[in-house]
Parts: sequence; C-alpha cells; structure tokens
Amino acid sequence: MPRAEKTTPELMRSANAMAVISPSTGAALYSLTPATAEQSRAAVARARGAVAALREAPMAARIDALNALIGFLSREQEWLLDQIVAESGRCRGDAMLSDILQLSGDCRWLRGHAEQALQDEAVPTPHALTDKHCRILYEPRGVVLVISPWNLPLAIAMSAAMFAFIAGNAVVIKPSEHTPLLEVFERIRRLHPLFELALQVVHGPSRVGVELIAQRPDFICFTGSLATGKKILAQTAPLVIPVMLELGAKDAMIVWDDADLARAVGAACWGNLHNSGQSCTGTERIYAHVSVYDDFVERLVAASSRIRLGTGPDADLGAIATQFQIDHIDELVQDARDRGARILCGGQRSVCGRYYAPTVISGTTQEMRIEHEEIFGPVVTVAAFETEPEVVRLHNAIPFGLSTSLWTQDAERAERLTRSLETGCINVNNMMLTEANVWLPFGGVKYSGFGRMKGVEGLRGFTRSKAVMLDVSRAETEPNWYPYSAAKLERAGRTMR
Ligand code: NAD
Repeated sequence: MPRAEKTTPELMRSANAMAVISPSTGAALYSLTPATAEQSRAAVARARGAVAALREAPMAARIDALNALIGFLSREQEWLLDQIVAESGRCRGDAMLSDILQLSGDCRWLRGHAEQALQDEAVPTPHALTDKHCRILYEPRGVVLVISPWNLPLAIAMSAAMFAFIAGNAVVIKPSEHTPLLEVFERIRRLHPLFELALQVVHGPSRVGVELIAQRPDFICFTGSLATGKKILAQTAPLVIPVMLELGAKDAMIVWDDADLARAVGAACWGNLHNSGQSCTGTERIYAHVSVYDDFVERLVAASSRIRLGTGPDADLGAIATQFQIDHIDELVQDARDRGARILCGGQRSVCGRYYAPTVISGTTQEMRIEHEEIFGPVVTVAAFETEPEVVRLHNAIPFGLSTSLWTQDAERAERLTRSLETGCINVNNMMLTEANVWLPFGGVKYSGFGRMKGVEGLRGFTRSKAVMLDVSRAETEPNWYPYSAAKLERAGRTMR
C-alpha cells in the first residue's frame, strides 16, 4: 500500500525539506532532505573508494547481485507499482510496462550476455606486423554518475546503473527530485553487499547534480531535457568528462496509404498516450498520406475518446507528473488554439487531479510553438502529406530524432525511408518496440543526444577500451626503427599498393 499521506506544511517544517507530491491526488507523500554539497562529495568519494574492489569482483558475484534485483522486481512487483504510481502519477499498466518489465528485461539480458560482451576480444593483426598479437580489453571506467528524469523513475536510473555496475563500475545515482523513490532505492541497495558497496544514491534538485559533476566522476550518463543536457556539456567540457546524453525528442509516425489502418490507429493512440505522453519516444506528430488522412484522423479521435483516465489497473491514461509539465502542455495547446489550429479532441485539463485529456490537433503551422517544441504530454498533431520526398523533408526538418514509427506494406519504400529518416530507432509497422529488444542500441541523433544505451554497444559504453599488442618477435630491430634509409622508405611505400 502507498505510504500514509501527510499534509504539505507538516512535511516542510525542516528547513531544506522538499515534499514529494502525488500527481494524481495532490497529497504530500513524504518529505525529502536534499543532499548537502558535503554529502555529495562524500558519496562520490565512497564510490571512488570502491572502484578497486569492484574491478576485482568476479562477474559471478556481480551476477549474484543482479539476480537479487531480478528476484526483488518479481517478488515486490505490487509494492513497487504502488510506489511508482504514487510518485509519478502514471497508470499502473504504464508503470508495469515501462518501469518494471523494462528493467527486469534489461537485467535478465545482462545476466545472460554481459560476460561475453565484456570479454577480452582478439582482433586480427595486419600481415605486415609479423609475430604480433592484438586484443581489446573492456575495462570499467571507474565512477559512473547516472542522472535521471521523472518520467520512468525506476527503469531509467536503474537500467543505466545496472549496465554500469555489471561492467565493473561504482555508480552514483541522482534520481529526479520529483520522483525520488526514496524507499525503493534504499531497499535495492540493501539487496546485496555488492550493491551497498557499488551504488550510492544522492537525492536533491539540480544543484545536487551540479555538485556531483564537480566531483569529477569518470563518466556521466544523463537522461533528461535538452536544456539540462547543454548545461551538463558546458560543465563537463573543461573537466573533460565523457558524457552520454539521452535528451528530448519530437518523434514522428508516418502512415502510408497501404498501411493497416486499424492497427496504425491503435498504435498511434498508444504511442501518444503511453506514460501520459511522457515518453521520450512518444508520438508527438503524425503524418498520414492524404488519401487515408480523413479516415485515419476520424478513427484516432474516436479511439482517443474511449481512453479511461485514472491510475488503477483498468485505467489507460494516468496523471501528469509535475505541475510545470501540465502547464507547459496546456501552454502549447493554447498557443496552437489561439493561432488557429483545430483541437479535434481533448485540449484541456481534467476537472480533478493533474490529468490532461487525450488531445489530437490538426491545422498547425510553423508559427505555433507546438510545431517545434517537445510536448511531453498526451497531445499529438496530425498533418497530411502526398509524396515521399515531402514526408522525408517534414520528418527531418525537426532538429530532434529518437524513434520513428513507419507504417507501410511496401517493403522497398520502408527500406528507402528507414535509410533516409534522421532518427535513432525505426519501428516499421509498430511503435516504440525497438526499446523492448535489449539487443538493439537505444539513443538519438541531433538534439536527442549521443551515445547509446542497451545492447553490446550500450554495455561497452560503460567501459574504456584498451588496445593491447603482444610481440613475440626476438628480432633485434623492427622495419620502422632507426636507421631510416631510402630502401626502407621504398619498402614502406610498397605496402600501400
Ligand atoms: P531535466 O533535464 O529537468 O532533469 C533531469 C535530471 O537532471 C533531474 O534529476 C534533475 O535534477 C537533473 N538536473 C537538472 N539540472 C541539472 C544540472 N544543471 N546539472 C546536473 N543535473 C541537473 O529533465 P526532466 O524534466 O526530469 O525529464 C524530462 C525530459 O527527459 C524530457 O525532455 C524527455 O524527453 C527527456 N527524456 C529523454 C529520454 C531519452 O532516452 N532520450 C528518456 C526519458 C526522458
């Protein structure tokens, strides 16, 4: 059951305490005292102190810890859902799919495949380098700082943390101040002695993120907004700290005249509304071929109108996590409305609770903010297109690119578009499903960030590759050593032919 609720003033008596508020009811859940600069410094120092021991910990011990988490996710599923729903306001189905199942799937993939992906890798050596043997080592980076947002408060933080952990790093997690999941992270740390050693969780607002970065972690995995990503780049540049940025998006769905419309409508509705529209890969703009546009839009509006609001197991659409986010959504919709767009359904907040009605908007123009800014809410714009070059231009004109959904039965067209659309992930005849396959790398292009999560590439991102060459030659000299001569130069030139 969710914790006993308290009133906000009661919670705010401590000088620095922040109240954690339930988005669906407005009730204060508990209070959080943000870390001081000294506590942040001490957390990174503890992580730094654990690096040597973690490098030595055998993979079997790390997998043992991972198993403890996998068991916890399954055993405590209902309790975890209570906490996530209470703090994020999303409906139970969304929390189950995007937080618990996703994290569990990622952990189970790591359990089965991390060891092989991180093994030393023998690579070929050019014939000219006789008697030499080459390999690549994938070594832990050291201290990894994971800074996470509020939209998937468990999966985003813990999945990155587990990829970093299994690669042998110490991890400092800075959850969002809006969804700190205080007790959840405390219980996870206590699941295994190796977690107590490897995982530090530091709570608080943006200031705490800044203070943690100032402690010079060896790598930063940041998921959040473009604006914060730019600040992190500015802070890390002089410190030369490598970063992975998973930022905002404005993802598109393209529906051709030969698409299975019934399926496409179901996908569009879910793609727009899943996680109350607060998915980085959520559908924000739909381009439908002019010949099916009217039919598609009519069906989408009908499907959106059948959506049930609430947070329980039978609800489809939960609340919006924060007050500033629902204000932002409403501002974009108001701006579009004021400038002449048509609100085909929704377009307003709910009467009670912090919900926003499923919204479909047509007739948007370049002057409207909704054409350019990330909405991150249950709102989608629809527009018609006629030709392939036109839809590619519309898609690529937006400076974000994370996950695109493409609907057509024409395999050649799908292949052409897959290659010409600027995006990090493409789902042909489905929606956001690349994220469900941990073998696939996940990440964006342009303003959606850089670096990849998941898959072998994502796992190795939490390591430093080390190039190793072993020479078994006993020769007194090498062709490239002194003295240089015309004959040596001539031989060197011949190797390029
Ligand atoms: P945010 O950028 O406001 O905050 C994210 C985290 O950064 C929080 O923990 C916050 O406290 C911390 N932070 C803020 N300022 C900081 C600073 N200067 N230095 C260090 N840390 C700082 O983002 P949000 O509002 O929590 O999340 C919503 C955004 O996240 C959306 O733009 C969404 O698209 C994006 N997102 C992206 C992905 C992805 O994989 N690409 C996934 C989920 C969410």
